[in-house]
Order: sequence, then C-alpha cells, then structure tokens
Amino acid sequence: MNAVMSTSTLEIRPSDHAASPEERAKRMTNPGFGRVFTDHMVVIPYKEGQGWGKGVLKAYGPIEMDPAASVLHYGQAIFEGFKAYHQPDGSIASFRPEANARRFNASAARLAMPELPEGLFIEAAQALIAQDRAWVPGAVGESLYMRPLMIATEAALGVRASSEYLFILMASPSGAYFPQGVKPVTVWISEDYVRAAPGGTGFAKCAGNYAASLVAQRQAKGEGCDQVVWLDAIHREYIEEMGGMNIFFVYQEKGETVVVTPELTGTLLPGITRDSLLQLAREQGFRAEERKITVSEWKNAIAEGRMTEVFACGTAAVITPVGHAKSRQGNWDIHQGVTGPVAAKLRETLLNLQHGLAPDTHGWMKKIVG
Ligand SMILES: *Cc1c(COP(=O)(O)O)cnc(C)c1O
Repeated sequence: MNAVMSTSTLEIRPSDHAASPEERAKRMTNPGFGRVFTDHMVVIPYKEGQGWGKGVLKAYGPIEMDPAASVLHYGQAIFEGFKAYHQPDGSIASFRPEANARRFNASAARLAMPELPEGLFIEAAQALIAQDRAWVPGAVGESLYMRPLMIATEAALGVRASSEYLFILMASPSGAYFPQGVKPVTVWISEDYVRAAPGGTGFAKCAGNYAASLVAQRQAKGEGCDQVVWLDAIHREYIEEMGGMNIFFVYQEKGETVVVTPELTGTLLPGITRDSLLQLAREQGFRAEERKITVSEWKNAIAEGRMTEVFACGTAAVITPVGHAKSRQGNWDIHQGVTGPVAAKLRETLLNLQHGLAPDTHGWMKKIVG
C-alpha cells in the first residue's frame, strides 16, 4: 500500500483472482486498442439527495443492473478517454486528466446527470493506476488507456432524469495505434448523415452521439473509406470532425505554415488533443487558426496546391494523417496519400511530451504514481 491509497476515500478491495505475471504478459502482447482490461475497476454510486456514495476499487468484472435501468431505455450515458504513460524516471504520469474531468462534467450537465467532483475523478484514476501499474506498457506509442463512464441506473420507465447513477473507471493497456507505422486514412465526406445539430449534444461525449454515427461509418466503409468526415447540420458545407476525432488542415501561404481547425460551434467535440496541438503548433512557429472551412475550400485549396496536409487528432490515435478524400462531389488526394512533415512533427512533439522525453513546459503531465 502506498500513500495514494492510504489517503484515499475509496475503499480498496484488491481482486482475489488477479492475472499472474505470465498471464498479464501474454495479454499485454499486441493488446490492440480497447480489448484487454486490467485486474481492477473503480465504481462510485450516486443517489439523488445523498450525492456520491462510497466508491470502491475492486476486481474488474460484470456489473448487475435492473432491466428497467434508465440508461438501457433513454440513454443517459457519458464517457471520457485519457492515457497514462511510463516516464523515464520510473513514475507514471497522465496527460491533462483535469481537462477530461472538466469535460466529463460538461457532458454530465448536458445530459442532466450529476457532476463528479474533479478531485474524485483524479483520485479514482490514481487509485486504479497505482493498483494496476504493472499493466502500464512501456514503449513509446503505448499507454494505459483510461475509460471513465457514467450511466443512469434508476429502475423506472418514466421519461425524466434518473435519480441514481454509477460512475465506473476502467483501464485498458493499448498498443501503438499504428504498429506498422503511421498510415494515412481515406475519408468519406458524409452528406447523408449528420453527427450533431445546433442545440444538440455535439459538444458532449455521450454514448448516443456514437450510436447515431455508426450507420454513416458503415456507409463510409461501403465506399471503400476508413472514416467519415462530418459536415454541419444546417448548410451541409462546413467541416466539423472526422469520426471521433478533430480535424486540421495545413496551408502554405507566402512562405508561412498555417494550421487551421474548425472553430468550436457547440456541435464539435472540444478535443483536448486539438487544444494541445493548437498550442504546440504556435510554439513550432506555425500560425494556428480556428475558423470555419467548407468542403469546396478544401477541394479548391488542394487543387491549387495551397493546402498541403490534412490530419485528424484525438487521444486514442494522437494524429492520423488523411491521405484521400471521397465525396459525391469528387475525390482528391492529399500530400500524395502519404504523411506530411507538419503532421509528423506535431505527432512526434506531442508523443515526446507525453512520454516524458521532452520538457513539460505547459504543466500538462500529471504525476499519478511516483
Ligand atoms: C473524444 C472525441 C474527440 C477527441 O477528443 P480528445 O480529447 O482529443 O481525445 C474528438 N471528437 C469526438 C467526437 C470525440 O468523441
């Protein structure tokens, strides 16, 4: 037991069937993304009138729910995603987890769910990472992916906000997203489906946004593409995001490198990677802009050679270059379909920071386990 646990308000109940070192090593070999889970999870219940109850760290496993639990009917469900990394000094740190805690609460507020104190969010992460630190992979590009979620558990079919909730935190060792090296994706610009509309839940990380996106993702696959590019709901013209990632466009203008990402309108998910890259891009000497950009601007700027790269970003894959775009208005290639220098540079800069190989001048790395 270390200091993190003894000051915890969580009850620590270690698993009696944790994986053996051999079993763990086997499961951590080529773990992929989101398929392998550690030995433990944190669960904290909430009841209206009582607030958040005593949380517990316990063996990872199924949870029991009443079939009338409102999440199963009306979908009050939100989640987050952040990562923990081995640092060169032997400690484990995670990248901007407080930003995830704040966004979790913004999502909760939109879905009429209770907010979780930021301190409790961080404490849960500390307890779980400390307990399962042997599950944190070591190589650059690898990490322990942390997945917090909250669901409505009251057994009642009336349509209203639930009076009971469950916060769950689980952890999943994840391998390099691109084990064979970064490979640009082909995107389908979706004109048939929208992800989010003004006044809706686009800025919230809620399960329903993903449920509504799957049919478009399937259509993209049918068109021979890897991912969907979402347009705004009103004009079907302004680019919003790529799948579950934010998107950046790189221009060369009068000898200057300009990175542009769609501005946050309420229908976009405010990515923490997006925000970090805007800052890192400026420090690299690039101009960074948040503004609206249309599909025709994308197509024309590529044709005129002014736009040289496009990439998407998010916690899971960090930076994914976009090599080809397809739409009903035509197809075009970006940077000959290979990774460009700006995407490569920003990716390396961010990865080095997260793995503690570059100085953390922003205070973004939070030491979780000493
Ligand atoms: C989570 C998410 C992102 C990326 O956010 P990060 O904080 O960078 O991981 C972008 N778009 C959508 C729709 C998302 O759900």
